Amino acid sequence: MTLNAVRICGFAACVWLLVVAQSHAEQLQIEADRDWTTAIAPFRIADGLYYVGSRGLASYLIVTPAGDVLINSNLESSVPLIRESVEKLGFRFKDIKVLLISHAHFDHVAGSEEVKRQTGAKYMVMDDDVSVVESGGKTDFAYAEYRYPPTKVDRVLHDGDEVRIGGMVLVAHKTPGHTRGCTTWTLRVRDGERLLDVVIVGSWYVNPGYRLGDGHGQKASYPGIPGDYHKTFALLQSLPCDIFLGAHGDYFDMLEKLERVKAGARENVWVDPSGYRAAVEARRLEFEAELKRQQ
Ligand SMILES: [Zn+2]
Repeated sequence: MTLNAVRICGFAACVWLLVVAQSHAEQLQIEADRDWTTAIAPFRIADGLYYVGSRGLASYLIVTPAGDVLINSNLESSVPLIRESVEKLGFRFKDIKVLLISHAHFDHVAGSEEVKRQTGAKYMVMDDDVSVVESGGKTDFAYAEYRYPPTKVDRVLHDGDEVRIGGMVLVAHKTPGHTRGCTTWTLRVRDGERLLDVVIVGSWYVNPGYRLGDGHGQKASYPGIPGDYHKTFALLQSLPCDIFLGAHGDYFDMLEKLERVKAGARENVWVDPSGYRAAVEARRLEFEAELKRQQ
């Protein structure tokens, strides 16, 4: 994106400024990547719900007597890390029967083919993300150059569909915008005596380079994208939430909450209904500001 800006810009001083900006952006990307590939100890969130991702890329394991569910396979290089995390918790990677995703971007799905190969899990993906994962990223509206092994989808999900296994019910909420089939997962879990509503946010961000409408000689990233974001925020506002999670740890301040665990917090730090409401509202306002900026 920054490279395109350099090309479009076309005169020396501006190019120099943008080159400086680019190296900063590259630096940020390198930092993000480092977190993406840095292992952290897996941890329990509630009964049967565990975090098995890296510092920067979230993966969740849902354990049931009939087999387990993995949400997000992440990068191709993440699969051994996820496997190690599952085994450290005392579970078997092979017991994963269902593979789900937050959305069809390479940092959440590139490892899916390998997870399927190692576990035989059924891959279940929201309708409008299916062509993206089955083409290995080729049909993505924003990141067609980031390719990964194309992965066959075994069950096409639609908005509101349920994935039922061993007494767990996961509901697939279509929250499009970030990708067309971006999926927010909800489920109900126990934490001791308490029954808690979990929300795993698919994504709520407008990435650099996304076009929210036609204009300035460019077309929208896809037709109807602003309406999709509006629907997504309305849905997220309506969901009951006790345990607040998402596709990346920074959606729900994971590292800060882990510090509280380390410091001996007695409460379950993942129960954060007000943090969820505040985050939805903050992201919604950011989206509205970006929409205005682009008009
Ligand atoms: Zn993404």
